[in-house]
Amino acid sequence: MTGTKCLFVPGPTNVPEDVRKAIDMPMEDHRAPDLPQFTLPLFEDLKKIFKTQSGQVFLFPASGTGGWEAAITNTLNPGDKVLASRLGQFSHLWIDLCQRMELDVEVVECEWGTGVPAEEFGKRLAADTNHEIKAVLATQNETATGVQSDIGGLRATIDAANHPAMLYVDGVSSIGSVDFRMDEWGVDLAVSGSQKGFMLPAGLAIMAASQKALEASKTATMRRCYFDFKDMIATNATGYFPYTPPMSLLRGLRASVDRMLNEGLDNIFARHNYHAEGVRRAVEAWGLTLCAKETKWQSDTVSAIVVPDGHDANAVIQRAYHRYGLSLGAGLSVVAGKVFRIGHLGDLNELMLMSAIAGAEMAMRDVGIPIEAGSGVAAAEEFYRLNGADMEMAAE
Ligand SMILES: *Cc1c(COP(=O)(O)O)cnc(C)c1O
Repeated sequence: MTGTKCLFVPGPTNVPEDVRKAIDMPMEDHRAPDLPQFTLPLFEDLKKIFKTQSGQVFLFPASGTGGWEAAITNTLNPGDKVLASRLGQFSHLWIDLCQRMELDVEVVECEWGTGVPAEEFGKRLAADTNHEIKAVLATQNETATGVQSDIGGLRATIDAANHPAMLYVDGVSSIGSVDFRMDEWGVDLAVSGSQKGFMLPAGLAIMAASQKALEASKTATMRRCYFDFKDMIATNATGYFPYTPPMSLLRGLRASVDRMLNEGLDNIFARHNYHAEGVRRAVEAWGLTLCAKETKWQSDTVSAIVVPDGHDANAVIQRAYHRYGLSLGAGLSVVAGKVFRIGHLGDLNELMLMSAIAGAEMAMRDVGIPIEAGSGVAAAEEFYRLNGADMEMAAE
């Protein structure tokens, strides 16, 4: 094909040109005497993105799933009880991981399209007077359904129940894209990955642990080796790693963190909200709905769009890909065939979003979904045209 493919899955996201160039480098000595001058400031700057001063950042060669495993195995004992909700494929997979690691998971089943059930969690924590629940697991942004949950509100609920359980947050598709405040929200383990808001290829689990979590890791007895915090802490202290780190990804991470801090976190969050809103205007104009059941749960990083009954979302995805070179996110598991997703996180701008909206609109019309030509495009266009600001055309 000519031109470029349009990548609108919610991860991997587009890698900005300067980040790609930073990755493309000759191999280097990961035990070089001057490596700490590179790694130590990187750890410090990552703490700004997690908004933690007292916590510690960890970089494991893995994807987000490895971050889940590291969070669990470093801080819990086999058979420990953890409280979690299943409301989409990613929260489901984290529960599955916990069960396979032989934790006792108390699962709150939720309708897909709803957020973390803070009230129900509060009741269960209040009822747990022996404090058997050691951890509360929450997916800040359920990427499968495009549902964003209020982590600060969940912290308030845990505190109101006066419960000492630690709070574990999957922020893989939210940290660095939407507001996240590790210290203020009392998050004990925060997990992210390189291929979403951090705008890098997959390959790094980027995570942070609170002092409480680090304390727990000293006595936690779950089996772990590769993901052991202890080895990381010992070597990271001097700016090195316990095994060969993926230096090219770390160089890329340096460039992406620079981009993020230069843009400013608040500006990044506002940009994601703004980009998302244009997509939402298009969905509304198409006469369709989001999988997210309430406005408060609408994700600023991904929209899961429900196709009308009798139509197959996978046909839209196939058509978009083969005919227009547009990758949309598929519906996973319970919502397979029912939704397609537009990822709107990372390195994007309005006209890129317009290509996804136009492509989705064309593909839907092609497969017989009754959509008025140009309706979504017009709605998004007007929203962006009237609400945006001039581009900053800084020389790259
Ligand atoms: C992408 C994602 C993950 C991790 O998936 P990996 O493929 O292992 O990186 C976990 N949770 C959420 C919410 C995600 O979006």
